[in-house]
Amino acid sequence: KKITIAIDGFSSTGKSTIAKQLAQKLGYVYVDTGAMYRAVTLYALQHKYINNGEDNSEGLINHLDKIYVEFKFNHELGFAEMYLNGKNVEKEIRTLQVSNFVSKISAIPEVRKKLVQLQKEMGKNKGIVMDGRDIGTVVFPDAELKLFMTASPEHRAMRRYKELIDRREDVKYEEVLNNVQNRDYLDANREISPLKKAEDAIEFDNSDMGLEEQFERIYNFAIR
Ligand code: C5P
Repeated sequence: KKITIAIDGFSSTGKSTIAKQLAQKLGYVYVDTGAMYRAVTLYALQHKYINNGEDNSEGLINHLDKIYVEFKFNHELGFAEMYLNGKNVEKEIRTLQVSNFVSKISAIPEVRKKLVQLQKEMGKNKGIVMDGRDIGTVVFPDAELKLFMTASPEHRAMRRYKELIDRREDVKYEEVLNNVQNRDYLDANREISPLKKAEDAIEFDNSDMGLEEQFERIYNFAIR
């Protein structure tokens, strides 16, 4: 019987890697909700609703109905890519610039309301693995399997740093560590749907656990 799997946790805990593998092995749909918040952030940057000075979240809120985010499956790559108003933005949403602003945007209640509604819609049918910050607490409180991933900030920053370097971004490790810690703080302390472990979630610290062992254990939870 197909179930709903909710994976939450701090940034760069390897949520998406596990979620993708799990979905692939179970024949489930994988949804990366962080990509949705990143796409809205990219829109806000492009239209100058946020910058390093004065923010205009009012302006963004008034234009939310102009933002159309969707996933399209890329059969060559074997996973879904994010499209913002019809354009593939998979690369643009992963930059450090977007990462530096996304927690601000995701703390806006109207933004969350819009995206949570879309996420609930996507998960109407069972057989879904969704990762994010509030999936087990808000989006699917009744999910059959909930995981909460943690790892030390240094492990996580190193992971994200390597990813960015692979994408040929010009970044420093300290900069990435800073972003990871700052985002964790903002995500865990915002007023609306703060990042926290759902009571019935299984906590997973993978600082010192290889991917294979991790996957093995989590897969066993999923098929029980
Ligand atoms: O998962 P990822 O690191 O790509 O998420 C980017 C940001 O989007 C998070 O730092 C958080 O601010 C926001 N987010 C959220 N709720 C989710 C998923 C992501 O607030 N369900």
